[in-house]
Amino acid sequence: MRELEKLREKPHWSYSAISKFLNCQLAYYFQYVVKLKPEHTPVNLLFGSAFHAAATVAGESKIAGYLIAVEEAQSLFSEYWREAVSEAGNVRFKDGEDVDTLDELGRKMIAVLYPKLIEENIIAVAQAFSVPLLDDDGNRISELPLIGEYDAVVKSGDETIIVDWKTAARQWPADKAEKDLQATAFSYAWNLQHDCDPLFRFDVITKTKTPSIMSHPTRRCNDDYQRLLKLITVIERVIAAEVFLPNEQSFCCSDCVYAGACANWHRQSSDQVLPSLFEQAA
Ligand code: SF4
Repeated sequence: MRELEKLREKPHWSYSAISKFLNCQLAYYFQYVVKLKPEHTPVNLLFGSAFHAAATVAGESKIAGYLIAVEEAQSLFSEYWREAVSEAGNVRFKDGEDVDTLDELGRKMIAVLYPKLIEENIIAVAQAFSVPLLDDDGNRISELPLIGEYDAVVKSGDETIIVDWKTAARQWPADKAEKDLQATAFSYAWNLQHDCDPLFRFDVITKTKTPSIMSHPTRRCNDDYQRLLKLITVIERVIAAEVFLPNEQSFCCSDCVYAGACANWHRQSSDQVLPSLFEQAA
């Protein structure tokens, strides 16, 4: 079992959970509070996992001193991807996409990532972390640790770079990395572990007909960490108050795995809304 999967077995905070809460409290409630069974499997999740798994094996081989050939990494992607789809069931593809078209696309995307793997001094891949959430005075602001996994850690001279591989529908706007909370959460963890602020870099690989890769470096400081800690403090208070509102303007709605349960949400009386929703959709 991967280290991150072990860490997930105990209560924790993760960037994904924080992001889910901020994008839609009701979706957070379904996923993390009542642990509702998803109504379908998002194809992006499976595709991204297969891509990361293949890139991780390639990165491991580089660290071991012999980078596997790109064709081998592409074959690994195909294997992980097809296996994931056949095991998941109820996968919802977008119009014009199926297992084969996405297999071909994923293989092209692995090829686009490869020059980076060849050029860079990779010192770690899939490195899990679990750190306490501490304010400036060293006091815990939450009972729970923050967990996550660095996709890759790269050395460039004296600089340490945390790299996160993103598969995306299109290239990111120039300012997205500066605002992204994942960079803050992961840089906070690194700072706590190593007492320095790393450079954090998103390598965005597009799922376009001709995939492209673009790097978005960014850096965080203590003030960013304090803002993240405040955010988590307030989120915990909102959760304790059991306030879970839908956000029907969220970008998540179009592929929400709880859309059916969400559609029934307003039909329940206030004191019944949570348990009855859970029973209906289970
Ligand atoms: S459909 Fe939209 S509003 Fe409803 S739970 Fe999902 S993300 Fe939230």
